[in-house]
Amino acid sequence: MTKFHLLVLIIIFISCSENKPTEKVQQSSSHQEMIYAIKNVNIIPMTTKNTVIKNATVVIKKHKIYSINKSIPKNATIIEGKNKWLIPGLIDMHVHTLSDGTPFVMYPTKGPLVSFNTQYNMTPYIANGVTTVFELAARPEHIGQRNEIIRGDIIGPRIALAKVIGGNKSNFTAKNPSDGRNAVRFAKEEGYEFIKVYTWLNEETFKAVVDEAEKQNMKVVGHIPVAFKGKQAKDFFIPNFGLIAHAEELSKQTDDYSYEKAQEFARLAKENGTWLIPNLSNMVAIEKQAKSLQNIENLQGFKYVHPLMQDKWLTSNSYYGASDDLITYYKELIDFHILIVKAFKEAKVPMVSGTDAGISGIVLGFSLHDELKLLVEAGFTNEEALTSATRLGAEWLEIDDKIGTIETGKFADLVLLNENPLEKISNTIKISGVFVNGKWIDRNKIDIMLSDVENWNNANKEKYDWKELLNSLKK
Ligand SMILES: [Zn+2]
Repeated sequence: MTKFHLLVLIIIFISCSENKPTEKVQQSSSHQEMIYAIKNVNIIPMTTKNTVIKNATVVIKKHKIYSINKSIPKNATIIEGKNKWLIPGLIDMHVHTLSDGTPFVMYPTKGPLVSFNTQYNMTPYIANGVTTVFELAARPEHIGQRNEIIRGDIIGPRIALAKVIGGNKSNFTAKNPSDGRNAVRFAKEEGYEFIKVYTWLNEETFKAVVDEAEKQNMKVVGHIPVAFKGKQAKDFFIPNFGLIAHAEELSKQTDDYSYEKAQEFARLAKENGTWLIPNLSNMVAIEKQAKSLQNIENLQGFKYVHPLMQDKWLTSNSYYGASDDLITYYKELIDFHILIVKAFKEAKVPMVSGTDAGISGIVLGFSLHDELKLLVEAGFTNEEALTSATRLGAEWLEIDDKIGTIETGKFADLVLLNENPLEKISNTIKISGVFVNGKWIDRNKIDIMLSDVENWNNANKEKYDWKELLNSLKK
């Protein structure tokens, strides 16, 4: 995002709190033996054909979709799906989940200054039907979070991890091609699955990082370095640059906000096989908070944001108070990003939903529904919006044999909706329950999980002061 983006992310990791596991939401050990059958449900499979299967029976067993319209095992727990709609679990392809950490060694044996309860970090995703996320600033702590979820200690989404390789002004430094290539190899060695290229890489290093990643069989997502501004767009559409992290990466490269320019980007992306995360919600959120902090407090889900971040977004908001000129500029970007989406759609470049969740004004989980609405407003059909947040994300991550559609044999990541999202995209928020890796979380449990987070946040609000924390770091 902005140049503060990465700095802010680093600071987010500096953090202090008790890490009490929430007994209410612990996975039960008998989970693996649980068999479920959803009866009379309308399945929106999100396969390429996507033929809705009405009044179907879906059996879920051993984490997977065991059968569709076959017999119901005797010991199955029945879920009534009459007049309800079943979609694949949603995928947010651009998130920044809060995690423990310290950007420097305080002293040996001293851990992070602030810690976070992993369940509380993950609950907003699950409550919103987001069962897979792509962490675009992955750190060792995110590997830890992923492992807690895999172990079954925490109910959370699948997490794909992209390690940031930046340039001069960032902390993840790669100043030259040789640094860049080494950074990719280290990332591979440390267990990250993807590389995220960042704003401050110079041209040669960007190219070396993307090339080395290809050699290491790692796909690349990310920003387009500002070093390319004023050059030809074909210079940064290079092989293995697989996914652009925001439409803003393109608008940053030009002062020409015409549809023709958007079409040029789309054509080059298509030729190069580069996909796009439009991330429309990000700039809309920036413009809103630039105008008023009330817009932050009014955010749906704000009460589930960790108190440290609530305090930061309200007392140290880097967007708030922008000049009228800057706000006008944000509006121009919002409009141009819509043109980019239209041009990419016209050129048949695949687009995946991503929100930049975790950044100021963008609430984990809730933000994906905002993004879907904006994509539809920009010209997506409801089905295309759903595709961008299900099958296509799985395809880019190369886990489409495991998730992303409702088909026998895939993992049971499913969202049961009270109303049909193909009729109205905002119906994705009307969640009756979520299957997370075959575990059923009904509405009642979702509400308990959410109120756990809210209650904890309210009880601990006073303990978190963003400015104080920054000052303590200067000492
Ligand atoms: Zn981001």
